[in-house]
Amino acid sequence: MFELLTEKFSSVIDKLRKAKKIDEKTLDEALKDIRTALLEADVNVDVVKKFIADIKQKVLGQELIKGLSAGETVIKLIYDETINILGGEEPPTLAKPDKPPAIIMLVGLQGTGKTTTAGKLAKYLKSKGYRVGVASTDVRRPAAAKQLCTLAQSIDVPCFVDEQEKDALKLTEKVIEDAKKQGFSYIILDTAGRLHIDQELMEELKQIKEKVKPAEVLYVADAMQGQEAITTAEEFHKAVGLTGVILTKLDGDAKGGIALSVRQVLGIPIKFVGTGEKIEDLDLFYPDRIAQRILG
Ligand code: GDP
Repeated sequence: MFELLTEKFSSVIDKLRKAKKIDEKTLDEALKDIRTALLEADVNVDVVKKFIADIKQKVLGQELIKGLSAGETVIKLIYDETINILGGEEPPTLAKPDKPPAIIMLVGLQGTGKTTTAGKLAKYLKSKGYRVGVASTDVRRPAAAKQLCTLAQSIDVPCFVDEQEKDALKLTEKVIEDAKKQGFSYIILDTAGRLHIDQELMEELKQIKEKVKPAEVLYVADAMQGQEAITTAEEFHKAVGLTGVILTKLDGDAKGGIALSVRQVLGIPIKFVGTGEKIEDLDLFYPDRIAQRILG
């Protein structure tokens, strides 16, 4: 997904490596190219501004790092700043099931990959040795609940649904109550989505959150939707308070700007990425590895 950025950054880095000295003009040219690359890759415009300003300030304010040429120093600062906007050095973490079950609530619009991700997350946690259950609170689309249970069955994870119950809050109470009896470490709660944000959905999610007190509320974002997904995420964040993002469809040809925008715009980390349609296609999100991929 980061092909465009990788290509553009590699040409900037080449120029910096070849430059005999880095004066303000060389630096400005490099930063201009970086700015264009980031905007073309659909990175949020405020994030781009801050990225460029921070690098410039650091380069101008910094003595050369011992042992590195001027060009290498600038490259190192670009690398550090890229890790920074991707979320920093810390590896991603998921809330521990200190008071089991820890409920992980997945929210997002329809079609972003929420149900698939619920299955992927269940597989991931099961592979770490946890007892995991999945549950659906979708009263509108019985097919979604069925899809969740089919996925769960394929990895031998219990699935809690109730197709007869048409009240989302009552359904939530019931499926969580049933699941709690089973001694799980984690319960992954797949919530209803809509094609667009609507107040009824937000209200439903607020009430569910209040009821189940989740350890995590993760927003599932489709990387192909670019900045649109960030705008939507802001609405969800305002309504229910998110603790992180799972970015799906990284294997597609999205330009990648969303990955560089989430942390700064929303102030929450990307925790996982979806890299394909299969149930094993889920990875933890490591900012340093992504920075390396972008900068080579
Ligand atoms: P939901 O409506 O949000 O629950 O979305 P679904 O889980 O039904 O997924 C919608 C479509 O996206 C399905 O065709 C999934 O196979 C696909 N999908 C989900 N995650 C990924 C991913 O990481 N990569 C790719 N290529 N497709 C994905």
